Amino acid sequence: MRRINPAAFQIARRETSREINRQITLNLVREKQPISRAELARLMGVRRGAVSLLVNELLRSGLVFEGAKGESKRGRRPTHLYIETRRRCALAVDINATRTSIVVTDLLGEPLIEVSEFPTPRRPQAMVKELVRRIGPLLADHPGFGQCVGLGVAVSGIVDLEGGRLRYSPTLGWRDVDLVTPLKAATGLPVVVENSVKACILAQVWAVTGDAPVDGPVVFVNISDGVGVGIAIDGKLLRGANNIAGEFGHVPLNMYGPACSCGQRGCWEAYVSKRAITGRYLGTDLSWSGSAEPSGPTVKDIVARAREGERRALDTLRETGYYLGRGLSTLVKALDPGRVYVGGEITLAWDLFASTVREGLREHALIREAGETEICVVPLGAHPRLRGAAALVSAPTFAAPTVA
Ligand SMILES: [Zn+2]
Repeated sequence: MRRINPAAFQIARRETSREINRQITLNLVREKQPISRAELARLMGVRRGAVSLLVNELLRSGLVFEGAKGESKRGRRPTHLYIETRRRCALAVDINATRTSIVVTDLLGEPLIEVSEFPTPRRPQAMVKELVRRIGPLLADHPGFGQCVGLGVAVSGIVDLEGGRLRYSPTLGWRDVDLVTPLKAATGLPVVVENSVKACILAQVWAVTGDAPVDGPVVFVNISDGVGVGIAIDGKLLRGANNIAGEFGHVPLNMYGPACSCGQRGCWEAYVSKRAITGRYLGTDLSWSGSAEPSGPTVKDIVARAREGERRALDTLRETGYYLGRGLSTLVKALDPGRVYVGGEITLAWDLFASTVREGLREHALIREAGETEICVVPLGAHPRLRGAAALVSAPTFAAPTVA
């Protein structure tokens, strides 16, 4: 049940039901392609004729196309519907405190080229300049990708989506930065900037492969230079009144703990970020020292040493896993999600410490079922942040119309 807001509503127009049914048809094609009109009619519980009206509208708009699927026995080629992903592409960018990556994808978020990376410049102006310098040739070198429909940028930090501003990023050290205006001016493309973990959960919500989607709250926890949490409820992103919903990374586990990049002490992030893992391994103070990339072995190095059987490396990861589980228990108590996705470098070692993560969660989950909340690891190779950036551009085409 959802309340109708008398101060902000969308009245149903004569075309509204058709618009809703067209979006349902479009999403069925997206999820089940290749699919025939007869199959669509069966799934939707309507007559073939009604489906054809909707499909013809989608064909005219260029969102779907009709193609053959294999050879039919009597020589007649049955036609099937597909989402039109040819001759159109999206640019996806992920700005992390240490590295920035770029990829070109189709409109379903499938990468069309190898991901390219460069070290993130310290200043936002230099960042924009470097990005623009790299984007131009990417598109010029691949004319076959066709029209680029937009640039999606996922960035670590708090983003005011409507105003298009990065309000604050503790790990980048940026405050109130407008990334949209200069990128739009330099590329001539529509630009959407979003918090990287909000983008990650958006990509999971819209994923057509992998686990079946779940209703209710679903979260994505990204553990990297910082710790970010993206939340979707019934397929819609939770932003909050000031865009800070999901900042569990800065919820303290211990108010007397190590200093965090945000200025507080003992945040979840201060215990499980990449730099915390390095600090724990070296036995140094975990407190924030002004850089997301401290000297010493990286998470990848520590994972490799643990796999070689080094005790210290394995203990470091198992202890980190326990803190990870403790933080997850806060999140589970706040949201009771149906599924938690976890991404970041730490997933490389998931098999080594999954049991201590579960232990930290179970110990503080109040009831047994909460301690057993489903955790899905999203591997680094799946590039969840870049997929998220691509979803920022592509998802609005498939979204449900807002009515009432
Ligand atoms: Zn913090």
